[in-house]
Amino acid sequence: MRISLTDRCNYACYYCKPDIAKHLCHSDILTYEQLLDICRCAVLLGITRFKITGGEPTLRKGYIGFIRRLKELDGVEQVTLTTNGSLFSFSDLDELKKIGIDCINFSIDTLDESEYLKICKMNNLEKVLLNLEYAYKIGIAVKVNCVVDNLFSFSRFESMLELIQDKKIALRFIELMPLKNSDRNTKMDELIEYVQKNYTLNAYDEKLGNGPAHYYKITDYQGYIGFIEALHNKFCQDCNRIRLSSVGQLKLCLFHMDGVDLKPYLDNLSELEKVMREWIFKKPKEHHFEKENSSTVMNEIGG
Ligand code: SAM
Repeated sequence: MRISLTDRCNYACYYCKPDIAKHLCHSDILTYEQLLDICRCAVLLGITRFKITGGEPTLRKGYIGFIRRLKELDGVEQVTLTTNGSLFSFSDLDELKKIGIDCINFSIDTLDESEYLKICKMNNLEKVLLNLEYAYKIGIAVKVNCVVDNLFSFSRFESMLELIQDKKIALRFIELMPLKNSDRNTKMDELIEYVQKNYTLNAYDEKLGNGPAHYYKITDYQGYIGFIEALHNKFCQDCNRIRLSSVGQLKLCLFHMDGVDLKPYLDNLSELEKVMREWIFKKPKEHHFEKENSSTVMNEIGG
């Protein structure tokens, strides 16, 4: 279950935020106590792995305490965090290591500062890279998410490989999913063809996560690369994700708009569990990103 802690973000990546971002009202955001109640019900339903996302989850005050409490819940096997990585202090990372965070996914689309600024409208790539370096150094498992859009270049791919030269990091290339108004073309097919032609790839069969990425080792590199192709290589048959927005909307697919508002059931946990169970069985068979854009608001649901 992916849990969005907030829709707010200090970044404004062009592929994520709607042109006019309406912020959710603070008073509508679920408290950590309410989120933990939902997680308790999720565990009863067999959901034991949680991804904390946003907006930018590290913007929300107290997020480390929430992760600690979630890690301590009976039955929880894994808690990971997806972040732009810009707001950590080293002591935050020490604390996350101490409470046993299972992995941090840093979203980094390029190592070129001016390109980074263009994509995210923020100028702090250097800080993000220092945080990634530190997280890795203190022994936190690290992955990198890199969105492949229609401007993605082979030279960008090559420079990104620097991140895995001497680090056992999983570098994942994620095909841009078309949301409202976004371009449907991506360079994903060309990228895969290029990589296959120019590098010796060895399929890495061990599981590096719960996601759809297929990982490869590249000769002479310590880390791994993975490709996530939501459009051109649909993996819906293997998708067991459910998503919870910060206001308590349980969403069953990134593409489809429907879901259930869990707020009315928060006072009665057995009713909450029942409603969650009913809705999980309504998970749609597949998305249709290949035909249509979705009106899903990514910064509300967290990718
Ligand atoms: N702010 C956090 C971050 O930067 O990772 C968490 C939220 S962000 C929505 C989660 C992930 O979704 C990021 O890796 C981001 O690159 C990815 N993402 C956002 N919009 C996307 C899109 N249209 N297609 C593919 N990935 C997208």
